[in-house]
Amino acid sequence: NGAIRFDDVHFAYDANRPILQGISFEVPAGRTIAIVGPSGAGKSTISRLLYRFYDIQSGAITIDGQDIRDVTQRSLRAAVGMVPQDTVLFNDTIAYNIRYGRIAATEAEVVRAAELAQIADFVRGLPDGFDTMVGERGLKLSGGEKQRVAIARTILKSPPILILDEATSALDTHTEQEIQTSLDMVSKDRTTLIIAHRLSTIVDADEIIVLRDGRIAERGTHRDLMSQG
Ligand code: ADP
Ligand code: ADP
Repeated sequence: NGAIRFDDVHFAYDANRPILQGISFEVPAGRTIAIVGPSGAGKSTISRLLYRFYDIQSGAITIDGQDIRDVTQRSLRAAVGMVPQDTVLFNDTIAYNIRYGRIAATEAEVVRAAELAQIADFVRGLPDGFDTMVGERGLKLSGGEKQRVAIARTILKSPPILILDEATSALDTHTEQEIQTSLDMVSKDRTTLIIAHRLSTIVDADEIIVLRDGRIAERGTHRDLMSQG
């Protein structure tokens, strides 16, 4: 499960300024879709709508055939994991940051999440391993390391749907590529991935949607879009 469908979705934050103007797309369960487009195109808005931060004005959004308006906020949050652009970590241990909010998470689950996010080796190389303090009074992590902790935290929830909202845009190309590789491992575990990104560096997505001013300007595989020039 984790199939997503947007059906002629219209949305505005203010009634007199439409943002999304008839967005339709489908992502089969376990596939990866990239939503690319310039700043302000509406990428984050699509992510927020899937999380039901706001209600749409017309159209429908369904997950596994069920209208998200009929799903409780609790089960929606269990179904959809979100990694934001800037992660603020707690001034606490790496383990705490991965397990955050999940009192019952076992050590094994924390390690598994870290492995999927490809931070396990790095963490084990630290003097206190997972118990290493990070943040203001501890180890200062790079942007890429922070994002991996954030990804590990979200993976721990095992959400059928994982949204990366510009989660890697601020990183250098090499780090971004490494994170993409670790996400490929996650999606092999049958996660539906939505990657919102400013640039079309996303080669591996099953489909790329190019968003411009709240409309889908182009869509296809990376190859399709390249061959159109
Ligand atoms: P992107 O993620 O592609 O940069 P966004 O979805 O963040 O685009 O924004 C799309 C448009 O919606 C922009 O014009 C932005 O100014 C506007 N917008 C975003 N969030 C809000 C909000 N909370 N209230 C009003 N307008 C907003
Ligand atoms: P958890 O279930 O692990 O507590 P959540 O997925 O509920 O985590 O949310 C993690 C954090 O990300 C929260 O602080 C929430 O406010 C924030 N968040 C979640 N979705 C969005 C979104 N679409 N836009 C902005 N912030 C979000």
